[in-house]
Amino acid sequence: MTKRPKEPAEHDTRLARLVLNLRSQGVTDPAVLASIERTPRDLFTPDLFKERSWEDSALPIACGQTISQPYIVGLMTQALTLEPRARVLEIGTGSGYQTAVLARLSRLVYTVERYRTLLREAEARFNRLELTNVITKFGDGMLGWPEQAPFDRILVTAAAPEEPRDLLKQLKPSGVLVAPIGKGPVQKLCRYAGDGAGVFGMDILCEVRFVPLLEGVAREL
Ligand code: SAH
Repeated sequence: MTKRPKEPAEHDTRLARLVLNLRSQGVTDPAVLASIERTPRDLFTPDLFKERSWEDSALPIACGQTISQPYIVGLMTQALTLEPRARVLEIGTGSGYQTAVLARLSRLVYTVERYRTLLREAEARFNRLELTNVITKFGDGMLGWPEQAPFDRILVTAAAPEEPRDLLKQLKPSGVLVAPIGKGPVQKLCRYAGDGAGVFGMDILCEVRFVPLLEGVAREL
């Protein structure tokens, strides 16, 4: 009996389509696309939405938060211009999907989340993917992580009401910070880049919709 060649798994096809779609929208950095391709998004989505893991859309996760849209993850990661030696601070771990994409492109990723439940679930996923270069913290990311500063790169994945001055202070003089900034439902995705002497220029990349960055830690689990 002849064996039929194995069909590629359905999710491989959907993932390949997603990656092509991101590239056509301007996420062209091959390292960023490769990291997205290697990160199984279905591990990060809740059961109710597993089927939609390969769609280019944000999806609800626990605690009323969201897992970011893959295009925005690609765009923000590309805007960080990561180098393999970079130490990166991420504010807003959420599902951990963005963290995992960063971890494959940097030396160390420090990530802060204000919901204990989300952080625990994300930690389990990092273990499962054997991402040993992710360091997590339960706390208020608005304060950054002063003990580990300065960072080469900072990524904020919740909307900051205004310029995140405390975080900029924790960036190296030639560092880059990417954050959605704005008080309303639609914010501006901003990229701050240091000139090496600690003066930061700012560019607006596009409009985005993120959940707000909130002060303090969440009281619920
Ligand atoms: N990058 C995540 C997106 C998560 S949504 C993903 O791909 O899944 C934004 C996250 O920021 C939420 O989990 C929210 O709880 C968290 N957050 C909001 N304010 C915060 C703060 N001050 N400190 C730490 N995390 C915060």
